Amino acid sequence: LLDVRDLVKTFGIGEAETRVLRGLTLHLERGEMAALLGPSGSGKSTLLTILGTLMKPTSGQYRMLERDLIAADDRALTEFRNAHIGFVFQFHNLLPDFTALENVIFPTAVREGRETPQARTRGRALLTRMGLADRIDFPATKLSGGQKQRVAVARALMNSPELVLADEPTGNLDRVSAMQVMDLIAQINREEGTTFLISTHDEKIAALCQRQIVVGDGVVTG
Ligand code: ATP
Ligand code: MG
Repeated sequence: LLDVRDLVKTFGIGEAETRVLRGLTLHLERGEMAALLGPSGSGKSTLLTILGTLMKPTSGQYRMLERDLIAADDRALTEFRNAHIGFVFQFHNLLPDFTALENVIFPTAVREGRETPQARTRGRALLTRMGLADRIDFPATKLSGGQKQRVAVARALMNSPELVLADEPTGNLDRVSAMQVMDLIAQINREEGTTFLISTHDEKIAALCQRQIVVGDGVVTG
């Protein structure tokens, strides 16, 4: 699915320069469900941001689905991202005044300039799949933390992305809710073949993934 080679990312210049990624190489197969581990500050979020095409590396190569994403311009990247990549963050970023369903279809509606019946149908189906059939029309503020995070997963899946990047998606959840979110991710991975890369500090969460990728000193160490 994707290949990054010799990724380097530095922030700041001169004396203040920090080299976060120092020649990181990684290959992800289609259909993998992989955990991204490493100490705080090791560059997990930085890597996910680059893989999500939200930031370019200082140097290195990045190919996904046969496309050279380093050479691509901003417009092509936005189009590519919308079509192929979904995101889940630690803080769900749901719009508080919107219902669960509105939150799931909002990004798609904005992009297409309108809210289609097909989008509503898919949004409902995804929320049902996330175990939230009875919360579809609840305002986001009235959902529990675990429910909000499941809405965020449904939102990430809205456009049937090949790759979902999740940055500590269970970081704010208790064990039971975290397991529920992971079970749903595993189910989507199994049934749809969606590739997941999930950063976490939690060994138990990482153990639920087929593969564990450990980052340290700006490279993959295991
Ligand atoms: P955590 O487990 O705590 O989430 P992480 O592995 O996700 O950590 P990153 O957020 O990728 O780590 O940060 C890696 C390093 O890069 C940190 O030292 C951080 O201070 C630095 N960094 C990240 N973003 C920026 C930025 N925009 N400007 C300057 N430095 C940054
Ligand atoms: Mg992080």
